[in-house]
Amino acid sequence: MAITRTLSIIKPDATRRNLTGRVTSMLEEAGLRVVASKRIRLTQEQAEAFYDVHRERPFFRDLVAFMTSGPVVVQVLEGEDAVALNRRVMGATDPAKAEPGTIRRELAESIEANSVHGSDSDENAAREIAFFFRPEEIVG
Ligand code: AMP
Repeated sequence: MAITRTLSIIKPDATRRNLTGRVTSMLEEAGLRVVASKRIRLTQEQAEAFYDVHRERPFFRDLVAFMTSGPVVVQVLEGEDAVALNRRVMGATDPAKAEPGTIRRELAESIEANSVHGSDSDENAAREIAFFFRPEEIVG
């Protein structure tokens, strides 16, 4: 397995509860390395563009409202097969279905306010990383 990168977002429910460090620790303990990080407030346009694939889903408007409701921390994570590793440590989308010990099972509030985002493929990781970071902002 190769060392690859993925995009993580610590969502507004987690930043609101001051869990940025706790989430980051869980990512690091799982073997991921934070090689870029910034705390930002997403605009409506950014959130809609980021979640464009979900535009027709019934939860799209609520999701955009939630993601713009407070600060987020966008991070590039590096590690052994980073996309899959990050998805393992995040747990299932619905915290009620997530394995014990995962970020969502331990910290998330609901299927929407589920504390973290992680890219779902290497292709999407590359696209999502470029959405938030210039190459020189990523220092491995
Ligand atoms: P994903 O692209 O898989 O990360 O999904 C986007 C996000 O939409 C999830 O992380 C949740 O925050 C939210 N979401 C997904 N499914 C639902 C749902 N059935 N109801 C409400 N929010 C959802």
